[in-house]
Amino acid sequence: MKAYKSAATAAVTVLAVALTATACGGDSETSGDGPTTRADARDLPKLPTYTVARNVDIDSPTLQKAQAAGKLVIGAKNDQPFLGFEDETGKRSGFDIEIAKMVAADLGFPADKIEFKTVDTGVREEAISDGEVDLYVGTYTMNDERRKKVGFAGPYYMAGADLLIRKDDRTIAGPFSLQGKKVCSAKGSTALREIKKPEYNTTTVETAKYTECVRLLLESEVDAVTTDDAILKGYAAQHPDQLKVVGRPFTEEPYGIGMAKGDKALRDAVSDAIVAHDENGDYKMAYDATLGLSGSHYVGPPMVLRP
Ligand code: GLU
Repeated sequence: MKAYKSAATAAVTVLAVALTATACGGDSETSGDGPTTRADARDLPKLPTYTVARNVDIDSPTLQKAQAAGKLVIGAKNDQPFLGFEDETGKRSGFDIEIAKMVAADLGFPADKIEFKTVDTGVREEAISDGEVDLYVGTYTMNDERRKKVGFAGPYYMAGADLLIRKDDRTIAGPFSLQGKKVCSAKGSTALREIKKPEYNTTTVETAKYTECVRLLLESEVDAVTTDDAILKGYAAQHPDQLKVVGRPFTEEPYGIGMAKGDKALRDAVSDAIVAHDENGDYKMAYDATLGLSGSHYVGPPMVLRP
């Protein structure tokens, strides 16, 4: 089996991509065509700092439990560059991590009182309903099936399912060219569910983590990886000579913050936090310093739902 870069090495690669010198110099615009390149580290956009609210008093059992424990437990991904990533020192980074920090600050928890827990796609509803995490921020599509088990605040971002393929593959232009091919996705993902529909007539391979799918793609064990474009752009940036994103999203994936079903006070407080941090500029600043570096265009958050 071919050696595959560890997540840690991959993180370094992503940073190197972001830091690569180009003719663009200090241009901080995102191109939409690939990862942004910058002249040097001083040109990298800065992350916001979040003011921590004091004496937060809302009628939420989850929040009261967290206040008593002195920490807020937030479920996240650890292998999605620019979104939810954990390096070898345990440091978490990415747009979802920033969304988690801004919401936590409004609930009265500074970053050092957040305990991040890695929870993968297929086990999120369980982790939330069993109370293993107080909140979940990790490319989590809000949909009715999941609403039967968990609550959602948001959305705070709109993604779409897309395909990651090998750079030299000229045979795949979208989900309808997957006949006779093998497509990998994470167990329990919306993309997996979509691509299993008979109209695509393809074979699926299911893994616990997307990084496992990426390894199979690099080793030509599968022909494509499907999940959200925002996630796939991060993997393409880690392997710019080997992989590319097709770039024709075929679903809509509104990202929400997961929490215990029925905790209305918490849901309202989290939705208020998303709106407030959009209005004060933190959202855009966080985006530019994380997901924006992967080449995703900035469009701002969608309208938060107030059911
Ligand atoms: N947003 C999709 C989902 O929630 C795919 C990404 C993920 O697995 O987190 O299923």
